[in-house]
Amino acid sequence: MTMPFFRIEMMPAERGDALLVEYGENTTRRLMIDGGPIEAFPAIEKRLSLLPLGDQSVELLVVTHVDTDHIEGIIRLLAPPVQRWPIRVEQIWFNGWRHIEEVRVLGGREGEFMSALIHRRLDDCWNTLFDRNAVRCGAVPDDSVTLEGGMKFTMLSPDAPALAALAKDWRAKLKDGSWKMEPGDLDAAWEHLVEESKFHPGSELTLGPEDLTAQLLKQLKGIDSSAANGSSIAFVAEYAGKSCAFLGDAHMDVVCASLKRLGCTKTKPLKLDAVKVAHHGSKHNLTQEFLRLVDAKNWLFSSNGKRFDHPNPESVEAVIEGSIRPPTLWFNYRTPFTERWEAGSKAAGARYKTRYPAKGKEGIVVKL
Ligand SMILES: [Zn+2]
Repeated sequence: MTMPFFRIEMMPAERGDALLVEYGENTTRRLMIDGGPIEAFPAIEKRLSLLPLGDQSVELLVVTHVDTDHIEGIIRLLAPPVQRWPIRVEQIWFNGWRHIEEVRVLGGREGEFMSALIHRRLDDCWNTLFDRNAVRCGAVPDDSVTLEGGMKFTMLSPDAPALAALAKDWRAKLKDGSWKMEPGDLDAAWEHLVEESKFHPGSELTLGPEDLTAQLLKQLKGIDSSAANGSSIAFVAEYAGKSCAFLGDAHMDVVCASLKRLGCTKTKPLKLDAVKVAHHGSKHNLTQEFLRLVDAKNWLFSSNGKRFDHPNPESVEAVIEGSIRPPTLWFNYRTPFTERWEAGSKAAGARYKTRYPAKGKEGIVVKL
């Protein structure tokens, strides 16, 4: 008999997120949340290849939203034939066009790629706990679902309006450039994906003998980050009395509205063990209100700072100064944007602690 465990690994996803959660008691169960941008894929693949042979099951794979720094690695991961994946996916959550027509929603090339792949490879386990509809607030009783292994999820984002805001964008991005296809046309998306050889360097996606053109299309472009971020799937995950809010790149107004709907107030904040801070610690995705509605010890920042100087000093400082409890800050990279907080954490009477990857390493594990 072992003690229950719940640990969160912020894998080295460069400017994005790729989180591996391991939990359980006698056996290890896993969640994977996002896969980083394409340039992080070699590191992510290497990490996943270390999973024990015969025990590579991921109980739930979550693709929080369609931005490249979250989705590209998953597209790359799922592009080869199923037998070659380093993980075995039991369920997947992703909001694609076909789910969201219910609220007229969604966005862009990567979204269509992802949908085409899931449709071909994982259709039977797509958003099943949400009756195959969109994964969102207001879709299931108490906004809560529980996996077989006992991990409970309480939804914080997106709400229906946040999803709807993406619909326009998704349509517009498909009309852009060399793409001419209708949203939700998964066969057309598949054909385009076949041409995107960066997602399948071994040419595993051939539809027939002459279908693969080696020609790379122009670099993928992220869609409007604000609408895409706002559509992020975000939730509190709880297991064996431990909990973490995984916020994707969600918007704080949506998350705070959900917290208040769940009964959280400034005088009765939600007690959590950890928060994976939204949008890599962007100053645009953290608010005073949020800091008052949750009471957490561990604050997780996932970014190598290569874009937008994440985490922004304003956010880190807001957590240090504004969190209800003295915080421990966890960073998955040592960069000028994360190291700057180390000296202060070691000063006499410091209100906060800092944690970095081991020397020469990238990525970090947080044990709750
Ligand atoms: Zn992001």
